[in-house]
Amino acid sequence: MATVGWLADVLRAAGVQVVEEGDWRNRMRPGDFDPIGVLWHHTASTSSATNPHPALGICINGRSDLPGPLCQALVDYHGVFHLISAGRANHAGTSGGSGPIPAGDGNTLMIGWEIDYNGVSQEMTPAQYEASLRATAAVLTRLGRDASYARGHRETSTTGKIDPSFIDLDVMRADVAARMSGGTAWSTIVDNATSGRFTASANWRVSTYSGQRYGADYRYADPVASSDVAWYRVNVPATGTYRVDAWWPANAGYNNATPYLVATTTGNKTVYADQRATGGQWRALGTFTLPAGDANRVGVSRWTTGTGLVIADAIRLTRVS
Ligand SMILES: [Zn+2]
Repeated sequence: MATVGWLADVLRAAGVQVVEEGDWRNRMRPGDFDPIGVLWHHTASTSSATNPHPALGICINGRSDLPGPLCQALVDYHGVFHLISAGRANHAGTSGGSGPIPAGDGNTLMIGWEIDYNGVSQEMTPAQYEASLRATAAVLTRLGRDASYARGHRETSTTGKIDPSFIDLDVMRADVAARMSGGTAWSTIVDNATSGRFTASANWRVSTYSGQRYGADYRYADPVASSDVAWYRVNVPATGTYRVDAWWPANAGYNNATPYLVATTTGNKTVYADQRATGGQWRALGTFTLPAGDANRVGVSRWTTGTGLVIADAIRLTRVS
């Protein structure tokens, strides 16, 4: 049976903090282990700065209904990787097939990260996300696979798993791909508070209401059938293809069809986002051909047939090609 005892060295070389938990190299389930991909999970435990890895013991020892180990590594609140198993672990169950990962035995096919956050009222910390990206990129490079071999449990599960929550897995794969290409892809974030790069009329008021906001605050306005766009100005380095992501805090009182405008080489394109869901994370609006130069590139319009407050928080551009 194959093992991945190289995990400690590969992760450290990628700049990931590693803790080797006991005899992790020899802690495993019986059966085949021949991984081709990496699977992301959340533990459903609430972690914090003072209790950074509440699920560590369960992941090592298992539960009454499922013997441990339950993953190859647990990612704690601070983004530290705790190595638990170098062999087969009970994390994935049956794979229904997702992307290049075939249907079959998920525990044979994939290396699993249990990222320690509760996934309902708590999202992944930035440190957990960054460390998980680095680790996934390093492991897939070692396995000779591309970023499409990074999956989330909710994509491969045949039993309705929802983890990992609060993550757009297409954005995750794009971020892994960027790390694998040397992390050199040009990317920039503009927040509503970014000096000189955000303009909106006084009708767009300031709020700190939602904890899912990006940065200190965000702007909100009532829908209206006229042009009153909040604009994000970006200095695009070269004409090319860019992925545009948006971040908003979600709330039942926010708009279910917020128009995002993207100023492309062939005019403004409009993408609608449901700001009642999937808040507090980057969500891909699409890829667009943008012209070089410093100008208003992405906007949020109040002109919508949806209902609820329209929100302007942060946007991100990443060069794709
Ligand atoms: Zn899971």
